[in-house]
Amino acid sequence: MSDLDVVHDLVEADRWLDRVRQQRDHLSEQEELDRLEESLRARVAEVRAAEEEVARTRQEYDEQAAAAERLRQRHRDLERALRESTGARALPAIEAEARSVASQCDEADERALDLLAALEDQEGEALRLRHEIQPDLDRRLELREAITALRWSLGEELERLGAEREQLVGQLSSDLGTRYERARARAGVAGGAFVVDGRCDGCRLALSPLDADRFRRRADGDVLECPSCGRLLVP
Ligand SMILES: [Zn+2]
Repeated sequence: MSDLDVVHDLVEADRWLDRVRQQRDHLSEQEELDRLEESLRARVAEVRAAEEEVARTRQEYDEQAAAAERLRQRHRDLERALRESTGARALPAIEAEARSVASQCDEADERALDLLAALEDQEGEALRLRHEIQPDLDRRLELREAITALRWSLGEELERLGAEREQLVGQLSSDLGTRYERARARAGVAGGAFVVDGRCDGCRLALSPLDADRFRRRADGDVLECPSCGRLLVP
C-alpha cells in the first residue's frame, strides 16, 4: 500500500472514530433522560412532601390514640376505685375526676378519629401522586439502562477502531505520520482530507488554480497539504 493509500484509509478511520464519538456523546436517549429528569424533579419533591405529611399525621394519630388509651385506662382504674371504695368521703372527688377523665377521653377519641380521616385523605393523595409519576420513573430506569448499554458498546467500537487506526499510523513513514498527527491536532477530526471537485473536503475550501495544478502534478510519493486547513490532501 502506498503512503497515500494509507493516509486515505486513515482519514476514513478517523472520520469514523469521530462519528462514533459524536454518537456516544450525543445520545438521543441521554437527551430524553435529561428532559425527563428535569420534569421529574419538581414532581418527585411533591410526592415526597405528600409522603412526609402522611408520616407526620400518622405519628400525631398514634400519639393521640395512645393518649386516649391512657385516659381510658385511668377511667377504668377510677371506676374500680369507686366500686371498691368504702370511705364515703373520698367518693365525690373520685366521681368528679372520673367524669373529667371520661370527657377528656371522648375528646381524645374524637381528635384521633379526625386525624384518622385526614390520614386516609393524605394517603390517597400521596398514592395518586406516586402513581402519576410511576410511568416516568419506569421510563427513567429504562433510559438509564439503555444508555449504559449503548455507551458500553460504543466504547467497545471506539476501542476497536482506535486499534485499527494505530495500526494504519504504524504503516506510515515517521515523517508522514508526524505531519498527519500535527495536522489532525490543529484541524481536528482527521489529519487528511479528500480533494473532491477541486475542493478540500476537510475545510470545504476550493483550491486555487495554482494549488489544484500543483496537486495534479505532484511527484509520486509527494503529499501536499491543504493551504487553508493544513490537512494532507488525498485524491
Ligand atoms: Zn482544507
